[in-house]
Amino acid sequence: MQIAFIGLGNMGSGMAANLVNAGHTVIAFDLSAEALARAATQGCVVAASAGEAVAAAEAVITMLPAGAHVRRVYAESILPNVKARALVVDCSTVDVDSARAVAALARDAGLRAADAPVSGGTAGAEAGALAFMVGCADADFTAVQALVQPMAKTVIHAGGAGTGQAAKICNNMLLGIGMLGTCEAFVLAEKLGLDTARFFQIASTSSGQCWSLTSYCPVPGPVPTAPSNRDFVGGFAAAMMLKDLKLAQQAAAAAGAATPLGSEAQAIYQLFNSLGHAGKDFSAIIEMLRGQGAPPF
Ligand code: NAD
Repeated sequence: MQIAFIGLGNMGSGMAANLVNAGHTVIAFDLSAEALARAATQGCVVAASAGEAVAAAEAVITMLPAGAHVRRVYAESILPNVKARALVVDCSTVDVDSARAVAALARDAGLRAADAPVSGGTAGAEAGALAFMVGCADADFTAVQALVQPMAKTVIHAGGAGTGQAAKICNNMLLGIGMLGTCEAFVLAEKLGLDTARFFQIASTSSGQCWSLTSYCPVPGPVPTAPSNRDFVGGFAAAMMLKDLKLAQQAAAAAGAATPLGSEAQAIYQLFNSLGHAGKDFSAIIEMLRGQGAPPF
């Protein structure tokens, strides 16, 4: 297939490389010359503009920072230049309104459209092991699934336009709240003189069990692969968690949903980011809850 790929940053570069490795012709465009040079070394064909990249493509994938970028690239470059009936898939994490707006424009132009945000981070992007949450018409899901397969570990159809983004932000709001709860429990356990390894052993087999505890433990030791064992380097950056919590609050306000814990999680991650920890893994929030380098709670 001839696939246009727009946005070859931390995530997009690994994803595009996996499409090339699967035998597709990938026509790449990014505003960054550095990103384009890297794409060329990975076997992508470099285009001079986003419009040029999409002109002959059967499918278009975007992997951009935020909703405003996606809206602009769709309006100015994709819709005016793409072939009729092309499949356009936005894999960026954006607000639900932007996802629905570009899907409607694409449908009106006779295109097949999907929002397909991912989880799995840059490691998942490089390994072709991302989880895709897809919002699209039932009739288009099989085509979306086939397109993203070389980049995917799982591909789940969430529902119609925008529901991929809805799934992503609801999941990540739950993750942020869950991580804060896990960290609070460890900090209290420490203050009460409870050995953290023993607490892990008990909570991981009791009703407090959750992913943040058993797969991503914020204290080093019990889960050797967790970022807490390497000073919170790598993993899922606190800045990314804050972005997703903000998107969740924006969606909650628009939909009239009560999300008091999501709101509190956003405020706590906002403080953590503003203290200079945006680049650390999000489980490092335990350090702030302990009062390390931060105002006490
Ligand atoms: P990034 O900033 O590394 O990459 C974005 C790329 O888009 C950059 O190379 C930038 O130059 C390019 N770009 C911006 N505007 C453009 C335009 N108009 N035309 C062409 N290129 C343009 O970001 P990233 O980490 O790759 O994340 C991309 C998306 O994936 C974001 O929405 C993010 O929330 C989401 N995401 C990231 C991760 C992660 O771990 N990094 C995980 C899951 C989802």
